[in-house]
Amino acid sequence: MNLNTVRSVHRPASAAEVGHWRDGYAWLAGGTWLFSEPQPSVDTLIDLERLGWPALEATEAGLDIAATCRVAELYHFVAPEEWIAAPLLRACCEALLASFKIWNTATVGGNICMSLPAGAMISLVVGLEGICTLWPPGGEPREVPAASFVTGNHANVLAPGELLRKIRLPASALKKQFAVRRASLTHLGRSAALLIGTRGAAGEWLLTITAATPRPVQIRFAEDPSAASLRAAIDAAIAPSGYFSDVHGTAAYKRHLSYHFAEEIRAELARAGVGP
Ligand SMILES: Cc1cc2nc3c(=O)[nH]c(=O)nc-3n(C[C@H](O)[C@H](O)[C@H](O)COP(=O)(O)OP(=O)(O)OC[C@H]3O[C@@H](n4cnc5c(N)ncnc54)[C@H](O)[C@@H]3O)c2cc1C
Repeated sequence: MNLNTVRSVHRPASAAEVGHWRDGYAWLAGGTWLFSEPQPSVDTLIDLERLGWPALEATEAGLDIAATCRVAELYHFVAPEEWIAAPLLRACCEALLASFKIWNTATVGGNICMSLPAGAMISLVVGLEGICTLWPPGGEPREVPAASFVTGNHANVLAPGELLRKIRLPASALKKQFAVRRASLTHLGRSAALLIGTRGAAGEWLLTITAATPRPVQIRFAEDPSAASLRAAIDAAIAPSGYFSDVHGTAAYKRHLSYHFAEEIRAELARAGVGP
């Protein structure tokens, strides 16, 4: 849609070129959300495209994903063999309700900064223990665990004008066994629940619950949990009123899915932990 309050579009070659941040400015990434509804408070778009950040950089430390990396680029990334959790990249891209047009335009950072419960890039980076690098306007970069980035439905830790620069998925997390479950009320619909479980070589166990709750919830165990201890941990982490209700499912439905999928993930990772 035409954003008829927008008077100018800047295409800086560096973040420093933006100068003083003021009300009315908005970062423009893929624009798939920005151009999908009126933005009456926005008069200036600052396009991230010309910043020229490399989309994906794989090193021994892990995978650095630029905020401007397109969902389609992430989908096509070919990971080193030892990163056995890498299929989660594709699984989470596929969990984003989107046509090919959205996939080729929407960015990973835009999805994370939207901070919607059904933001599948959030599920991915939280499930794989990502670290976000943030650039405050005029300040020193800071790092925030992806698990703490989203604070609620459409809410996050970004200060006005603060830029999400990249997300690092540590190699240690990419080398873990994983299990994933997702439900959506409609084929190609937004997720009602998206749960990711990982298990490290020493048995360390992590469950990430997303979409069913307004923000990601994580549950850790030092070793494989029993069904009862996992249930008790979910009871303790999320009150029955703590689930997210919307047109993609009631809170009660999403709560039911969360327990059901958590148990399936527990059983799958327990089998994987036994080895061949
Ligand atoms: C048909 C359709 C289906 C969709 N399905 C889903 C879905 O299933 N799940 C979901 O979560 N969303 C969905 N969306 C919403 C949206 O398109 C996605 O969240 C998308 O990933 C946003 O990315 P973008 O690059 O287009 O962001 P933009 O629209 O460019 O920006 C989104 C917001 O993030 C800010 N922003 C972008 N990049 C940065 C950055 N690096 N640092 C700081 N702020 C930044 C922008 O200022 C803006 O406020 C859908 C949209 C459409 C039109």
